[in-house]
Amino acid sequence: MTDSAYGALYVVATPIGNLDDLSPRAARTLGEVALVAAEDTRHSARLLRHLGISQPMLSLHEHNEADRVARIADHLEAGRDVALISDAGTPLISDPGFVLVRELRKAGHRIVPVPGPCALVAALSAAGLPTDSFQFSGFLPAKRGPRQARLASLEHRLETLVFYESPHRISQTLEDIASVFGARHVVLGRELTKTFETFLEGDATTLLGRMEHDPDQARGEFVVMVAGSQRQAESAQAVEATNLLSALLAEGLGVKQVASVAARVLGGSKKSWYEQAQALKDGA
Ligand code: SAM
Repeated sequence: MTDSAYGALYVVATPIGNLDDLSPRAARTLGEVALVAAEDTRHSARLLRHLGISQPMLSLHEHNEADRVARIADHLEAGRDVALISDAGTPLISDPGFVLVRELRKAGHRIVPVPGPCALVAALSAAGLPTDSFQFSGFLPAKRGPRQARLASLEHRLETLVFYESPHRISQTLEDIASVFGARHVVLGRELTKTFETFLEGDATTLLGRMEHDPDQARGEFVVMVAGSQRQAESAQAVEATNLLSALLAEGLGVKQVASVAARVLGGSKKSWYEQAQALKDGA
C-alpha cells in the first residue's frame, strides 16, 4: 500500500447503519492492511465477514488505547500497514483513537484518513440549520447538574449546536434544552441511514410531547441539533450595522445618502436607517 519502508495507520470510517455506505476505498484498505485495530473486535468482525475479509484484529478501546500505541508502532516500523476502525462512523469522533493518532503522529508515522460516514455530518447535511459554523460537543454529561451547566455555557453561541445522545437520556436532555434554551428550534436526527430514519423538529417541549405520544420516536440513536442564539445573532448584526453607518458618516456622506446605502446593503427601510444615522451623527 505504501512505498515507504514503514507502514501507515489508515483511519477508516465505517457505516453508521447502512452497510452500503462503506466506500470501496475503505473496503480495499481493510482487505489490504496487516492488522485491523477495532473498538470492539466481535462487533467489527461481523463487518469484516460481510466484506469477505479475515484480517487479524486487535482490540483498541478507551481503557487500553495508551497500551496499544507501542504495539501498533511496532507493526508500522516493521513495514506493516494498520487500519483503525470504531463500532460505527469515523474513529476519534466521540470514539477511541485520539491518543493513538496523536502519539503515532508525534513519532513521525504516516496517518492516512479514509473518510466516510459520520453521524454529525449526516445529520447536519439534512437538518436545514446553518452549517457555515457549528459547535459539536459530543455527548453531554450524564448527570443533570453538569449537563445543564454545559448547556448554559453554550446559551449565547451563535453557531448551530450539535450533540450526540442515546435513547436512555434523550428525554432528559430535551427537558434540559427546554429549560436552558426555551423555545429555541431543535432538530433531532434519529436512526440515520437505517430503516426508521426520522427527522423531528420543533422546540424541545414540542418534541418531548411527540415522544410521549409516540414512544417509538424516543428509540434508537440521536443527533441533537439546536439553532444558534438568535438574540446574539441579532445583536451582532446590530453592531455591524452601526459600524457601517459610522464608517459612512466618517467618509463625509450625508445622513440621507447613508440611509440609502444602508437600506441597499442591509435591507430594511430608508426611514429607519435615516433615524439611526441621524442619532449617530447627533451623538457624535
Ligand atoms: N464515531 C461515530 C460517528 O462518526 O458519528 C460516533 C460514535 S458515538 C460513540 C455514537 C453516537 O453517535 C450515538 O449515540 C448517536 O448519538 C450518534 N450516532 C451514531 N450513529 C447514528 C445514527 N445512525 N443515527 C443517529 N445518530 C447516530
